[in-house]
Amino acid sequence: MIVVPLGIASATPTAIRHLPSVALWREGSVFLFDCGENAQMCMLQAGLKRSKIDSIFITHFDVDHYSGLMGLISTLQLQRRDKTLNLVGPKGIKEFVEWNLSFSGVEISFDINFVEVEEKATEAKVLETEDYYVEARPLKHKKFCLGYRFQEKDKPGKVDAEKAAQLGITEDEQFKQLKSGQNITLEDDTVVESYEIVGHPRPGDSFAYVTDTEYCPNAVKLAMNTNILYHEATFSNQLADKAKETGHSTAADAARVATEAQTKLLVIGHFSARYTNLHVLLKEARDAFYPTWLAQELRPIFTDPIHERGILSPKVDLIDLTMKKPNSRQGYSKGPRSGGRPGGRPSGNKNFRPRKGRDGAGSGGNRGNYHSGGYQQRNDRYRQDGGYRGSSQNSGYRGSSQERGYRGSSQGGRDYSNSDRNNRYEDKPNKSITPRTGYDDFDRF
Ligand SMILES: [Zn+2]
Repeated sequence: MIVVPLGIASATPTAIRHLPSVALWREGSVFLFDCGENAQMCMLQAGLKRSKIDSIFITHFDVDHYSGLMGLISTLQLQRRDKTLNLVGPKGIKEFVEWNLSFSGVEISFDINFVEVEEKATEAKVLETEDYYVEARPLKHKKFCLGYRFQEKDKPGKVDAEKAAQLGITEDEQFKQLKSGQNITLEDDTVVESYEIVGHPRPGDSFAYVTDTEYCPNAVKLAMNTNILYHEATFSNQLADKAKETGHSTAADAARVATEAQTKLLVIGHFSARYTNLHVLLKEARDAFYPTWLAQELRPIFTDPIHERGILSPKVDLIDLTMKKPNSRQGYSKGPRSGGRPGGRPSGNKNFRPRKGRDGAGSGGNRGNYHSGGYQQRNDRYRQDGGYRGSSQNSGYRGSSQERGYRGSSQGGRDYSNSDRNNRYEDKPNKSITPRTGYDDFDRF
């Protein structure tokens, strides 16, 4: 299962954070927890198809948690969906959706299976299939609010094919019976017990979605032994009074739930707009529960970290330094040519003009390793180039002390670095570069 935060703001969106919504991807289906404004656009950005939505779970009727719902349903209608949509939420969700549809005179082409949870309910299994079930429990907020737990059922253990062959088990039916825990009798009357062939059942993955709430025992129950707990951390401890007053959690509250529930990974989200630097919240949570991540919009989190390997590709260009002429020139012809370099540059032309300032300490990251010899000369040549410097197209980059963000831009920055590296590497000793992802800087441990 893969969890993708789509919106991590609370109450009001900010320039960089959307209203609450978290997508859970499992075997090709998407389960949406809350549906704030813009959730459907964020899904697109995350590469999640809206047509793959299987179920939507709404926690409560604060507008920021369901303001994207009607827009999404309208899109599904326009996509001519014909599959039933499960829509789970507190009592009233059916009335809300049906009223909206009749208000705008829309007749939808697919069925909605409404599952409403009454306010007096203490717990409810809101969805169940052969492979998984979803459980809801009321949380402690200013209004009736549900937390959810998505639980995969245990998967049967692996079959020891070699041993099965030795014992002469060949029929599919026999394997089926053994897998389901039954013993079988072979033709020569030997009884083969299930445990001889089938390994231990593998526990299913689980995910809990707990927002908005103060600390409460139901949050712990939902999160018990989960692979991932997504918990709100609207405030820091300094504003614990405000958290209590508004029915929200602090980062420390989230960590307390994670500790008591012994979850494997805590992901905090639903941040108050006042926190422009979320590290305050991360630090507070990690002080009590170390395996905590900050939710980052569109950044996927895997219930089984092993699956993550190889899926995130490194964000730096890796060049085999043992090669005399690195084979990295393919990038030249790709990407739009910019106006600053009329007519483009033939591959290997030594007289081309570099596109960006690399003065002194301004060169960030790995560049620091190449501060001598040819590099400096190139810099000098660059400084003399008055026309280039004045180019309005590039002036935006110059002020940046850390050019990293622009390096990969299609303005030609990549072309420049490649060629520059090619020239430089020929007379430099070998040095390996450790691949780093863009996320390494803050939310991984
Ligand atoms: Zn909220």
